[in-house]
Amino acid sequence: MRIVFASSEAVPFSKTGGLADVATALPKALAQIGHDVSLITPYYPQVLKRSGVEIPAIKRTGISIRVQVGPKFIEGQVLQSTLPGSRVNVFLIEQPIYFDRPGLYVEQDQDYRDNSERFVFFSRAVMEATRLLGLKPEIVHANDWQTALVPALVNIEYRGTPGFEHTASIFTIHNMAFQGQFWHWDMLLTGLDWKYFNWRQMECYGHLNLLKTGISFADLVTTVSPTYAREIQTPEFGCGLNGALSARQSDLEGILNGVDTEVWNPATDTYIAKNYSLGALEDGKAVCKAALQKRLGLPERPSVMLLGSISRMTHQKGFQLLEQCASMLLDQDIQLVFLGSGEPRFENLLLEMAKSHPEKVATTIGYDEELSHQIEAGADAFLMPSEFEPCGLNQMYSLIYGTVPIVRAVGGLADSVIDASDENVANGTANGFSFCEFRSDVLFWNICRARSLFADKQKWHRLQRAGMKRDWSWKHSADEYVRVYERAIAKCLAPAECEGDERQDEGPAHQ
Ligand code: ADP
Repeated sequence: MRIVFASSEAVPFSKTGGLADVATALPKALAQIGHDVSLITPYYPQVLKRSGVEIPAIKRTGISIRVQVGPKFIEGQVLQSTLPGSRVNVFLIEQPIYFDRPGLYVEQDQDYRDNSERFVFFSRAVMEATRLLGLKPEIVHANDWQTALVPALVNIEYRGTPGFEHTASIFTIHNMAFQGQFWHWDMLLTGLDWKYFNWRQMECYGHLNLLKTGISFADLVTTVSPTYAREIQTPEFGCGLNGALSARQSDLEGILNGVDTEVWNPATDTYIAKNYSLGALEDGKAVCKAALQKRLGLPERPSVMLLGSISRMTHQKGFQLLEQCASMLLDQDIQLVFLGSGEPRFENLLLEMAKSHPEKVATTIGYDEELSHQIEAGADAFLMPSEFEPCGLNQMYSLIYGTVPIVRAVGGLADSVIDASDENVANGTANGFSFCEFRSDVLFWNICRARSLFADKQKWHRLQRAGMKRDWSWKHSADEYVRVYERAIAKCLAPAECEGDERQDEGPAHQ
């Protein structure tokens, strides 16, 4: 199958969150099972330079694209690279005015004012690059609001033209909270007819909504866990688009992300003090824990439970719960290690906790790939009390590293963490602690539960083993995506389903 995967970020070229991991791991897994995958992403030279990560060679293809964005014609160049250790072709779109900036979407906490223009350009550039490179895709897979115009372009402008005879589009939602909502006049930037600016397709409460555009026009819509697929059809999690999603219920699927096990594997991880696997778990983790404590200046105590957190420090990730139970946590004989950045209120709280209790808390503000691996290997338990969590990757990294996650049972956390109830511990299925109510006392109680089980080494090992035994790689998820792609292709080959599939004539169903 020929697949074009469009993403506004992809490791190692750029990253702000889980989307960047998925954007390379899924194409790699698809290529491994024999599919022909091209990844198209913007070229952010300043971001690349600052990240200091090693990247594969990038060369010029000599192909220029020219697309219309509102009244202007914008040119871009197509650069080419590969994903290390794979057959995936990477095409980077170079457009210095839009992408040669310090940030991807935000600078000094402010969204770039021309984000709609930048990503309308990128979405059109994806389609033009695909055409000029002769990729002839059967599937174009777009992700999140930044590329959400792509399914509309497939549907309205490209399908049926040379190279796109039966191209089907897939749209994956990685987080409903970011919708790419702009004032209505930005509709002019898209170059699409005003007739599409209606409440079923591109309009949302008077604004242009790109996420809704992707949901409305894609042949099939996916999101990153089965539980999140159900949740986002409800007002609580749908962020105003639950109606649009319910209207596409039969075309919406949840597929849990996998983990890039070449990067996240305690047996081969080069960042950690000692490699380990299930067989030599106890010894390996003890060495990694001591090394982590030493690096962060915490007392090297093997017996104290060390809780890790690697996260954006935001409301979504549940930091207000930690804030509310901070003093109770500081009264416990535990160690807490935080890595991340986010809302100043939470950063300051965690820095303050580390300052007042240096023997218990270590806080690192910033982004640190190496330390993130060392926390996963060295911590005993991992905190992820998210308010909502489309999929979440860190709980899966934790499970692979024998680090027991303590999570709120939402989205992908509910699909990956099985609570340590007496029954689940006894039958060997439990791999963590999971709770429903978004309350600080419930979080605190679960940390206490974890601590008492941590004291029972045999039971704790059972939890660790259950997490480490399961295959968290992309293999299974990639197979699921192939099934969705096949369904979308079949849908597009059935003319009645695909042609004129603009859905604007259906009767009202939501809002
Ligand atoms: P998000 O909602 O931010 O996408 P995920 O758990 O899905 O959350 O993915 C976050 C990704 O970013 C993970 O790979 C995680 O390890 C990584 N990450 C987040 N913050 C940091 C940080 N400060 N340093 C290193 N890695 C981080």
